[in-house]
Amino acid sequence: MSGLYIHVPFCRKACRYCDFCFTVSLQYIDAYIVCLVKEIKNAGNIVNEAFSTVYIGGGTPTVLSKRQIAAILAAIYEQFSVKNGAEVTIEANPDDLSEDYLKSLKDLGFNRLSIGVQSFFDEDIDLMNRSHRSLESIAAINRAVRAGFHSLNTDLIYGMPGLTIKKWEENLARIFDLPVQHLSAYHLTYEKDTVFELWRQQGRINITDEADSIAQYMLLREKASQYNFEHYEVSNFAVKEQRSKHNSIYWSGDTYIGFGPSAHSYDGNRRKWNIASVNKYIQNISAGKPHSKTEVLSESEKYNEFLITRLRTSEGVNLEHVKDRFGNKVLEDLVSKAGHHIQYRPEEMLLSNEILKITPEGWLRLDHITRNLMRD
Ligand code: SF4
Repeated sequence: MSGLYIHVPFCRKACRYCDFCFTVSLQYIDAYIVCLVKEIKNAGNIVNEAFSTVYIGGGTPTVLSKRQIAAILAAIYEQFSVKNGAEVTIEANPDDLSEDYLKSLKDLGFNRLSIGVQSFFDEDIDLMNRSHRSLESIAAINRAVRAGFHSLNTDLIYGMPGLTIKKWEENLARIFDLPVQHLSAYHLTYEKDTVFELWRQQGRINITDEADSIAQYMLLREKASQYNFEHYEVSNFAVKEQRSKHNSIYWSGDTYIGFGPSAHSYDGNRRKWNIASVNKYIQNISAGKPHSKTEVLSESEKYNEFLITRLRTSEGVNLEHVKDRFGNKVLEDLVSKAGHHIQYRPEEMLLSNEILKITPEGWLRLDHITRNLMRD
């Protein structure tokens, strides 16, 4: 499987926790589209198969008009083959999803929406500095269903300042009451150069303590399971047949190509990443200058990525695949390190039928555990 990603780096407001590549200077949208279309048309055949997924993310892609999105899709479909029945997703903010706009998205061929809900409490949405109201999310989801969307993801954030377990329970009750099939629930992280991180350093906000974070994660798992949402990746839950195909491409180490500022591509051997600045991206592409860097991955980098991505999922790592792809020595190293971990913390890792998995309990310490299994 191969996926195609477009990064739309525009947002109406700057969320206080966000360190993605975005700008609120919407006046650059037209120049960005000209450059994006140029980048797509100059891409050549980086991935030699028809794409199974197209994902327009951001940023907030729904700040674009129907005409602007159509121009991007036209460039994609002219340049590349996309499989019949491909998953075609767009990320959306609830306040952009009017009846007309949803109809346009449907007409343009999108069959999946990923809606940034984040919370159903206005005071928390305001603290995050997001642009919508909580009730708009509910209305937008219901309108999306009426417009014919039956594959809906919603994003929620937990572990944020002031989020009590009671409020989190209410957020979860609301989301699982809505006709959505997929939930991405992320624990807030304090990223460098964000307002939240500055406020944290200044003591202006109270960070959630570890016990509360764990309690919120456990409640998330419990509620998801009650509503038959499978916890299939650290932060992702889906009902049957509704896992994100696009994100699963990243987690299974398949190939993908990305366009737009900060977008990444991977062809199985090389990783390419675009400039993570909207202005520089526009300037460089307009002037015909390089807008990306590429590196060829070493065998140990490939192996480490293989571990990092697969151990995030409920599928885990198939030891046969490790042997086939990386050889006996690497397999022995993994089995030995994993065995050591299982001996001391059996609740965090499982090795059964030649499949190595980190358990949902272990996912709480995913980075630490994965680092201990990696090779130098
Ligand atoms: S809408 Fe998304 S990309 Fe834009 S600032 Fe907020 S979190 Fe970041």
